[in-house]
Parts: sequence; structure tokens; C-alpha cells
Amino acid sequence: MEKLKNFIGGKFVAPHSREYLENIEPATGKVYSLVPNSDAHDLERAVEAANKALPQWAATPLEQRAAILARIGDLIEQHLDTFAEAESIDTGKPITLARTIDIPRAARNFRFFAHILEGFASESYEMPETALNVTLRQPVGIAGCISPWNLPLYLFTWKIAPALAAGNCVIGKPSEITPMTAFLLGKICQKAGLPPGVLNILHGEGKTIGSAIVAHPAIPAISFTGGTRTGAEIARIAAPMFKKLSLELGGKNPFIVFADADYEQALQTAIRSAFSNQGQICLCGSRIFIERRIYNRFRKDFVEATQKLTVGDPLKPTTKVGAVISKQHFEKILSYIELAKIEGGRLLTGGHPVKLKGRCKNGWFIAPTVFDRLSPLCRTNQEEIFGPVATLMPFETEEEVLEYANSVRYGLAASVWTRDLQRALRVSRTLQSGIVWVNCWMLRDLRTPFGGMKDSGVGREGGYEALRFFTEPKNVCLKY
Ligand code: NDP
Repeated sequence: MEKLKNFIGGKFVAPHSREYLENIEPATGKVYSLVPNSDAHDLERAVEAANKALPQWAATPLEQRAAILARIGDLIEQHLDTFAEAESIDTGKPITLARTIDIPRAARNFRFFAHILEGFASESYEMPETALNVTLRQPVGIAGCISPWNLPLYLFTWKIAPALAAGNCVIGKPSEITPMTAFLLGKICQKAGLPPGVLNILHGEGKTIGSAIVAHPAIPAISFTGGTRTGAEIARIAAPMFKKLSLELGGKNPFIVFADADYEQALQTAIRSAFSNQGQICLCGSRIFIERRIYNRFRKDFVEATQKLTVGDPLKPTTKVGAVISKQHFEKILSYIELAKIEGGRLLTGGHPVKLKGRCKNGWFIAPTVFDRLSPLCRTNQEEIFGPVATLMPFETEEEVLEYANSVRYGLAASVWTRDLQRALRVSRTLQSGIVWVNCWMLRDLRTPFGGMKDSGVGREGGYEALRFFTEPKNVCLKY
């Protein structure tokens, strides 16, 4: 069985404790690799390596830094099949999704930040005949990047690439349940010529190595993506240390369809938005609001389309819905399905585990599930389930649907479907959401600010926002 290693100072090393955690394939329920159970000793080694590499990396000409990052992106792409298979096995997501979305995007993250780096400008303000103020943007030093299991390499690199581009060294921690592609990334970095110590990857549990990274005094910036509760715990430790914090947290996103929308496109996208990656994307639209006039037709078509989604072995190219991430998560999703029934929901389809034959007979599969007749204020519609469970709700007016949409503690993403431009603008302005997609979903321009409001997080990633986060602005006032 493969034993993964940490990546420290450009080398693969065993954890100091020699202890390993089991890594289980969600589609089979079997242990298929062992993951270092890293601790504070491993972190000290990584901090030492990063500190050693920092002065030279921060002083490396932008062109050279950008070339190395672009090379990492190219190499990920060259190894697309290996990465996609590893991601699919580790997460249970359909291999087609890993091949077309996750891995290409990870490659693009590196290329994108390599590309925009040289255009990253800072402000200057002149006080006429008195002085010129120039703001320097200097690397923060060592950045701690902690990422979740749902889009492992995609989200890990979304943090690492801008941190490195801005001249920082990084200590990264992927989710311990999906470590494989981060492990492979270390090999790519070696090949691409990233100097030793610039990127260090520590595997292990959030409560040990994750919180040790957050609490380490030599790491002044923490970029975290994960659950809201973990985000609050991280803020509790990091805020009194005055660390820079970027928190990308949970969501419970509304998908709003007005009667004048392009019906077919809205329907197909609603399906994709509810069930992609088994509903385990922070941007998934799990609360689907449909204008009353088209409600019955939409409900019927939505349920029929849901029933056509093939649940199967993630490694088969025909599979649309794979396994959910873990036994614990599988049980959590099923408990929410029971809750929805108790809350008076009408089960329209799904609502049960799926037993597959052969290799996947012990995997954690759940049939895509649809409810209606639930109040927008019930727990099923207020709490993040993060699984293949969607609810359908009718609405009469714009005011009513905005009230429903904004009724949750989260504010990450929303999707609005209408042909009325004025309404699209009005609704977009009123939605409490960091991202609004009009007549689309998950259409990403990497230059745009990405992140949530309310309990969905603090700060924005993407484009120059990310480069700003990973740099310290210093104003230099030059007197004439
Ligand atoms: P978690 O919050 O459980 O974990 C995220 C990462 O943090 C993991 O690497 C985890 O390690 C680590 N971690 C856990 N506890 C601590 C701690 N005390 N200190 C430091 N690190 C810690 O989230 P999940 O992995 O379960 O991911 C799902 C969540 O992520 C959902 O709520 C989802 O909405 C959110 N998410 C948000 C996105 C956004 O952009 N806003 C995008 C994608 C997901 P370990 O795995 O060992 O526990």
C-alpha cells in the first residue's frame, strides 16, 4: 500500500512521528493509501525550510517566478490522466468531472497567476510640490494554505499559486481525506524547478497539523477554505495574533427561476448546479425557487431529469453521480433526508442509498434527491447539507423570493434566471451574496473577486484581490 510523504525543503520525508492515517476510497470503502499524521515537529521543519528559501524567492525577478509557475501548470496538464484518476479515486467524484474541471482548473490557476503577476500594480499619490507616496507590495512571508476535500487540487492551487506568485513561501495542508493530488503536486514542483522550501506540503488532521499552522507565530497569513465552524475556530486563534485571514466558508445558495427565463437552459443548469460533484461544491444551488406560473411544469421536468442521472463507479466515463466523500458524510446526508421528511417535505425522487455491484458494492452512494413542500425557513432549507439533496419552492413575487433567498446565515453565491435586464440588476443588487450569476452558474473569470458575505466568509480570492491578500502594503512617502 502506498505510503504518502510530506514535501519539505524540496524533498519527500516521512512524518516525524512515523504515524500514518488511513486514506479510504469512497467508491469502495477500502483503505488504499496511508497519509502522514504530521505534528508540530514536521511543521518546525517546514517553517525552517520556508524561512531559508524566502529571501531568495522574494527577490527572484517576476519573469523568472512566473516562468516556474507556468511550468508547474503545464506539467499538471501533461499529467492530466494521472491527476484525474487520483482525484476521482480519492474523492469519489466522476472521473469525467476531474478530467474536465478539477485538473484543468488547477493547471490554469498556476498559469493565470503567472500571467497576471507582471500587471500587478500598486498605488501612488502625489502631494503637489510636497511629496510622492508610493505603496510597495511586499510578500507577507510564509503563508499557511488550508484546503478542503471537495475540489482538492483545484482549491489547494487556487491559494498556493497566488501566494507563490506574490513572492511568499507556502506551507500547505490539503484535507487529510483527499491528499493524493497534493502529494503528486510536490513531484511536479520538483520537475518544474521550484526552489526547495518555497512550497512545503504537510499532510494530516485539521485538529493537529491544521491548527498548528494557524497558531504558528512565523506564519503571518492564513488562507482557509472549508466549513464555517472550522473558519470560526481558525479566526479565534489567528485574530488575536493579528494574522491576515482569508476565510472561504460554507454556502446554502439560492437558484431563482423567473417565468420569463430561458426554460431549457434554466432547467439543465439547475440540475447541474444541484448535483455536480454529488452536491458537494460550496457553490451548488440547493434551494431552487421557481415562479409559481411555471412551477408544476418545472418540478415535473426537474424530477425526470434527476432520475436520468447515472449513479455509478466514478471511474466509468458514463457516471454522472459518484460516491459521497466518507461514511460519516454519507450518514449526515441521510440524516438530513430524514429531517426533511419530519419537517413535512414531500420526497419527489431519490432519498435513499444506492447499492452498486462489483468493485463499488461497499461504496457510499446516494440517489440524487428532490423535495418540495418545505418552508424556506425550515432546517433543511437553512443548513448546509453539502450532498445531492435539492428542494423546490414556488414563489409569487420578486420581493417574496428575495426575502426567502436572503433568509439564510450564508451569503456565498446565487443564480438568477430572467430575460428582464432591469429585474436581473435589481435582484442582483439586493441579494446578500458575494457572487451572483445571471442566466448562468459557475461561469468563472479568474480575475473577478471570489468569496462570500455573512457566514460564508471574510475576504475575497481571485485576480488581484488574491495578490493583495498575499502582500503587505507599505507606503513610502518621498518628500520633494
Ligand atoms: P473542514 O472545515 O472540515 O476542513 C477544511 C480543511 O481545514 C481541511 O484540510 C481540514 O483538515 C482543516 N481543518 C479542520 N479543522 C481545522 C482546525 N481546527 N484548524 C485548521 N485546519 C483545520 O471542511 P471540509 O473539508 O469538510 O469541506 C467542506 C466545507 O468547505 C463545506 O462547508 C463547504 O461549503 C466549504 N467550502 C467552501 C468553499 C468556498 O469557496 N467558500 C469552497 C469549497 C468548500 P481535515 O480534513 O483533516 O479535517
